[in-house]
Amino acid sequence: MSTIVNLDQVKQLNSATIYKVIEQYAPISRVKISKISHLAPASVTKITRQLMENGLISEVDLQASTGGRRAISLAPNAHNINVIAIRLGQTQLSIAHYKLSGAKQLSKQVTIPLLDNSINLIEFFVSEIAKFITQPALINEKISAISMTISGLVNPNTGTVIYHATYPLQNIALVEEIQKAFNIPTFIGNHTRCLALAEHYFGATQQCQDSILVSVHHGVGSGVIMEGKVLLGKSCNIGEIGHIQINPNGKQCHCGNIGCLETEVSDNAIFDKVKAAISAGSPSSLNISDFTIEDIYLAAIDKDPLCQSIVQQAATYLGKSIAILVNLLSPEKIVITGKITLAGNLVFDTVKACTETQTLPDFHDHLSVIPTTLATDPTLAAFALTKQAIYEGDLLQRIKV
Ligand SMILES: [Zn+2]
Repeated sequence: MSTIVNLDQVKQLNSATIYKVIEQYAPISRVKISKISHLAPASVTKITRQLMENGLISEVDLQASTGGRRAISLAPNAHNINVIAIRLGQTQLSIAHYKLSGAKQLSKQVTIPLLDNSINLIEFFVSEIAKFITQPALINEKISAISMTISGLVNPNTGTVIYHATYPLQNIALVEEIQKAFNIPTFIGNHTRCLALAEHYFGATQQCQDSILVSVHHGVGSGVIMEGKVLLGKSCNIGEIGHIQINPNGKQCHCGNIGCLETEVSDNAIFDKVKAAISAGSPSSLNISDFTIEDIYLAAIDKDPLCQSIVQQAATYLGKSIAILVNLLSPEKIVITGKITLAGNLVFDTVKACTETQTLPDFHDHLSVIPTTLATDPTLAAFALTKQAIYEGDLLQRIKV
């Protein structure tokens, strides 16, 4: 049996543990860091010295300790560390500048042009990032990381986009291209999986070890957090709930199969159903030539019979699929995000009823099904990816301010 210990990994893990403790309890003395992290005082001294040399933390003030001696406290320098977070959306590219503390500084959105090959698309990304980071407010700032989220199949370990439904990004080493252009550590992740991470770091599932975020948008996806980490698996793409077959007599999905959850529950599917029903003569308070998906969800809670019935049916399909996840993974919380949450109790009561009748009692007795607590921010998921690279990856070792 091999007894080789990867010292770099141990160092990385211990540094991340100490940085997290400082972030959570700052200002905090080295003695207290040692107690909370269960790391030897000598290790704490060595690692905090390194973190200070790299500009990640600093000594902030003097704090009285119990024995009358005064210990120096440490705090993160997160307001001095700049990161760029990017969301490749369906039509928009959102780019934002955050401080590592989470404070969002600048942001912009641009429409993505219709480009038929990956080379032009990568050129467009690089040119937009370059414009953003060379604007007067940022040109003199050091950027420590770039993170990008994409609604498609992604391998975060290799930095590759495997498949994207809209853009010509098949097996493209996007991270390598961006790093080549800017020489800044770059990370990529699936948007919904990173949104689950954002909920875990900053939102409703902070206190949970096991949770699932379900996102209903133009598609339906989920991100699974188990033992505080995103479940990725070998395929790197666990959580494709949108392709559970829910209606064998339903429509063909873009994946090729029939009656997938997203053909019944996505915003587009619900919009098309309402439009078709009004065209066929169903009475509704909505004006056929002028309504949005938000109008449908609001009309549903205002008891418009057509919208109520279509949203209720969608919530039942969603609830059935969520019940499957609960039986498989037994999370403590299910968080739902997307415009469908505007329909409030109509959606949440229906999903809860499904989990209560379709899962094991032990699994649903303490289960909460709740809406997201995070404000709508297209780049927050990518910012969470940077945090993950600090807590779980080697980014902490690579930052020098
Ligand atoms: Zn499908």
